[in-house]
Amino acid sequence: MKLGPLTKVLRPSPTLAVTMKAKALQKEGRDIIGFGAGEPDFDTPDNIKAAAIRAIQEGFTKYTPVGGIDELKDAVIEKLRKDNGLAYKRSQIVVSTGAKHTLFNMAQVLFGQGDEVIIPAPYWVSYPDIVLLADATPVIVDGGESEGFKITPAKLKKSITAKTKAIILNSPSNPTGAAYTLDELKGLAEVLKGTEIIVVSDDIYEKVVYDDFRFSNMANVGEEMKEKTIVVNGLSKSHAMTGWRMGYAAGPDNVIAAMTEIQSQSTSNATSIVQKAAIEALLGDQSFIPKMVAEFKKRRDVIVGALNDIPGITCAMPPGAFYVFPRVSALYGRKYRGKPIATSNDFSEFLLEAANVAVVPGGAFGNDDYIRLSYATSMGLIVEGVKRIAGAVAKLD
Ligand SMILES: *Cc1c(COP(=O)(O)O)cnc(C)c1O
Repeated sequence: MKLGPLTKVLRPSPTLAVTMKAKALQKEGRDIIGFGAGEPDFDTPDNIKAAAIRAIQEGFTKYTPVGGIDELKDAVIEKLRKDNGLAYKRSQIVVSTGAKHTLFNMAQVLFGQGDEVIIPAPYWVSYPDIVLLADATPVIVDGGESEGFKITPAKLKKSITAKTKAIILNSPSNPTGAAYTLDELKGLAEVLKGTEIIVVSDDIYEKVVYDDFRFSNMANVGEEMKEKTIVVNGLSKSHAMTGWRMGYAAGPDNVIAAMTEIQSQSTSNATSIVQKAAIEALLGDQSFIPKMVAEFKKRRDVIVGALNDIPGITCAMPPGAFYVFPRVSALYGRKYRGKPIATSNDFSEFLLEAANVAVVPGGAFGNDDYIRLSYATSMGLIVEGVKRIAGAVAKLD
């Protein structure tokens, strides 16, 4: 069957490709340690599950208003007030089927042909494709390791043209764990002042920060920036709810209304049951989060230390999220069984073959000198996995 033109802009998700390959090898009986996971390895808290079960038992299983029930919008408003010091009205909130869906709807209503959207690299794999599917052009701006994997005001300024429509910021970042301080955001805001450039703030890792890092987003800079910012967040990472599919956006009335409208002609409301669970997640007991983050921090310290002990690999200490992004390009040019390693893809395949370890090539995130490892896996597997990597690297010619 002949496919339509939109399919031509799509690229298969590279993170899923590695996971699939690792799963296939596992099925063949190979003992693979996976560092590919993009989700917490914790169970959803019981109070949230109970709220969903209650919703089913009470028959809350029908269509709801497209953009979410008022009770949930109010819970989101309360969360944004309490955690972020930001005030919104119901008409400025829309609830969708995961933050990825929220970002997709945002792009569909804000971007179009000729628009340039600045995406700092390393970036989350879906941003360029979400921009392309809205017929706009991704403009990749490199945030180098020497700048903490963040873009500077000077770099931002240089990348702005008359066509610049928006910038997508993700702090803490997937894949680097880098996070912008309020002062750094103020620096970027200074460049955006007086322009009509929109800031999309993907705050999905807001809760996963370490060592007293204080989370801020662009809307915190001040009223002018708040009016130009679309805040995107969800429950997947903060409450270990990836499978539930729950995301939301806060922003100007007209943008939220348009996002709701596009949703009304595609997916309609997020699952009714999940909306009830989300209210509990947002307003109920939050003690799950610091426990999860404390465990992530222990693992982060171990994995960063162990990776830096491997000759040829260097790894920065990330302030947030649950990924490390070690540089491996010093090993490019070396050979495994006569096969030269030249790219992050080669390096990842070498690790799968020689170490039975699955990682994601950095090229997928816009920087080929690196690989991404998720430490959302047990301490035992982290220690064993990195030991295997060290053993395999030692065997390189
Ligand atoms: C996981 C993730 C999302 C999307 O999460 P949903 O499960 O769709 O809510 C969005 N942005 C980044 C950077 C992520 O890592």
